[in-house]
Amino acid sequence: MKVRLIVLVAVLVSAWSGVANAQSKLNVIATTEDLASIAREVGGDRVTVEAIARGYQDPHFVEAKPSFILKLQKADLLIVVGADLEIGWLPPLVQQSRNGRIQPGAEGYLDASRGVQLLELPTGQITRAMGDVHPLGNPHYWMDPENGKRIAKEVADAFDRLRPGDRAYFDQRVSDFTMRIDGAEKRWLATMAPFKGTKVVTYHRSFPNFAERFGLEIIGYVEPRPGIPPTPQHTLDLINEMKRQNVKIVLVEPYFDLKTPTAIGRETGAQVLVMPPSVGGVKETSDYFALFDYNIKLLVDALKK
Ligand SMILES: [Zn+2]
Repeated sequence: MKVRLIVLVAVLVSAWSGVANAQSKLNVIATTEDLASIAREVGGDRVTVEAIARGYQDPHFVEAKPSFILKLQKADLLIVVGADLEIGWLPPLVQQSRNGRIQPGAEGYLDASRGVQLLELPTGQITRAMGDVHPLGNPHYWMDPENGKRIAKEVADAFDRLRPGDRAYFDQRVSDFTMRIDGAEKRWLATMAPFKGTKVVTYHRSFPNFAERFGLEIIGYVEPRPGIPPTPQHTLDLINEMKRQNVKIVLVEPYFDLKTPTAIGRETGAQVLVMPPSVGGVKETSDYFALFDYNIKLLVDALKK
């Protein structure tokens, strides 16, 4: 009798938790607003999504806050950019959350860099020597909408694993997102086509994927190495190279000081544009589509001058 009662209780509890699971939304934390935007596209009303870093912050250097640990404690899924982008701030937060579901290697940990096209892959020994913050290749890969589609597919696969009952819903949403990106990308490519081969300089190496997709040629960087602030000698060399190649555009991410770029613009006659590499970088870039809409308009308006 006692055994039967225990079995009955066990059956009831598991049935109840099954119902609760089916009804509760998947709690998703993404390290950046770009990943969060794509996760919202795929997850619709079956998920809640929050980002940790804001789009106007340098994603390499985010100040860790106790509130981040609280978010991570409740997460069912953590989506990271990977390729060491968050290496300087995320690992201790994940560890301190003591949430087994989202530890690296667990089912609720998704490293989005695994399924995308990475540029600037290291050829020799992998090293962070001299402070280079891109030791595993360029981690700003979401700036190509083709990678946006790949990220969405990875996110959908993770949602399917964690909520198999909602598989059809997520699969439909990822197809819809892919179709809308394809449509938008045609429009973006057509808008940029007349400016193919335009030479630019960027502050940090945030835009190689964007440049490759949309036909810009990046000839130099304000930073001597990724993550290393400008030096007078490097700036002088860059100015000379820009003059030699007649470069008239400098792109600066919103979180960098404009002093050096402004001086470069003064010396070379180049326009200095603040170009956000992330959703939320400026108020107009409210989602993944708006990020490209805004940046392409910014560039084309400048190039038409
Ligand atoms: Zn970087």
